[in-house]
Amino acid sequence: MTFFPTRAAGLERLHEFAQSAGDAYARNRNFDDGMSEKGFRTNISQLSPWLHAGLLSETEVLEAVLAAHGPKSAESFISEVFWRVYFKGYLEQRPTIWRSFTEGRDAAFAKVDNNSGLAKAYGVATEGRTGIAAFDHWARELVETGYLHNHARMWFASIWIFTLKLDWELGADFFLRHLADGDAASNTLSWRWVAGLHTAGKTYLATASNIARFTERRPDGPLSAEGLAEEAEPLTEPQEHSRSMPPLPKNAPLPEPYALLLHDEAASHEPLGIDIAPSLIISAPRPEARSPGEIGKIAQEFARDATQMGANAASDAFGCSVTQWTAGEAIADILSNAGIENVVTAYLPMGWTKDVLWPELGELEADGRLTQIVCDLDRSTWPHARAGFFRVKKAIPDVLGELGLAGG
Ligand SMILES: Cc1cc2nc3c(=O)[nH]c(=O)nc-3n(C[C@H](O)[C@H](O)[C@H](O)COP(=O)(O)OP(=O)(O)OC[C@H]3O[C@@H](n4cnc5c(N)ncnc54)[C@H](O)[C@@H]3O)c2cc1C
Repeated sequence: MTFFPTRAAGLERLHEFAQSAGDAYARNRNFDDGMSEKGFRTNISQLSPWLHAGLLSETEVLEAVLAAHGPKSAESFISEVFWRVYFKGYLEQRPTIWRSFTEGRDAAFAKVDNNSGLAKAYGVATEGRTGIAAFDHWARELVETGYLHNHARMWFASIWIFTLKLDWELGADFFLRHLADGDAASNTLSWRWVAGLHTAGKTYLATASNIARFTERRPDGPLSAEGLAEEAEPLTEPQEHSRSMPPLPKNAPLPEPYALLLHDEAASHEPLGIDIAPSLIISAPRPEARSPGEIGKIAQEFARDATQMGANAASDAFGCSVTQWTAGEAIADILSNAGIENVVTAYLPMGWTKDVLWPELGELEADGRLTQIVCDLDRSTWPHARAGFFRVKKAIPDVLGELGLAGG
């Protein structure tokens, strides 16, 4: 199974899976049936890499699934897609969570560098040599495939934190370095949720019986997990992460002429609904900014190729040229060489892409030369992403209605 980094491949997978996103998804989604050599899993969509790269939008995924099933039968799948939107909105309103993750990760790596026992434990875990068969299997599967089933991610994170007692930030970093769908919001907040930092005091404890039950359909039988922690004492942190909703840019008419910027999280122009053609496409993949550590081959190539191929597709669609904005180069020079003042891009949420691009984009914004496109789904959902997911869940019918996606 390979994730091919084009919008066409994402659409093909969406249309193939949409028929299975109804009641069958709700019944089967928690089973980790293992990777298939030939194709995708049948019980889950595996659309996350395309969603993360912005090759597909959450809105068009919802549209396709609602068209196939209607809102009642597709409720469980729709709710999962909203978890993604919820996490993005939540992190946006609590940016210090992302900052404290990157600082915590750097501090945890410094501890590993200075402590040979820790370095050994970290190596044993990431190389899949702990002796806990299920965990070791997932550590290797992650590196080899760039993907893990949601339940495996939960079990893995729980074992990492409560059985192996490693810093959660190191585990979250390991995921970000290897997942093709590695996402600042979904990953950081899910690890925090397992650790008891998202819903204060509520942790996720992996058990051998639950793992055996939900891996029983694997061709080589269930995975075993012996010696797991029997308690999951919530982690604590000194810092409070206060909430404030950032003012989202209004979707103003596009300035002419302009350069369209595509990057790891917005690699296709199509979901952006652009109505005025750009004069230049700027391609700026930055997968190396995911972590100070080495980025896995699959995650790295998916992000780089998605952005490059997305830029080529935009260039064909609009009949303009493509230029690369490489790390260390000044975007102002690219724009002045092309005789263009303005840049248009998808709204950049909290995460590494923003960290690495914003120092220069922020200057353009301050000069009134940057237009960010905010999608309607985020604009309507994020105000509900204030605390727990339940507020978003309650708002789903209204949000779908506002967007004209209510289904039949
Ligand atoms: C510790 C941990 C780390 C995670 N890290 C990431 C990450 O870096 N990037 C990422 O995209 N997801 C992450 N997830 C969420 C989830 O595991 C994946 O989105 C899902 O497994 C992707 O597979 P799929 O496309 O087949 O999902 P499906 O079950 O087919 O769901 C459809 C879509 O809904 C969204 N979705 C489904 N489940 C969740 C969820 N629990 N949280 C948020 N969105 C969800 C995804 O966009 C997914 O593509 C993480 C979960 C955990 C527990």
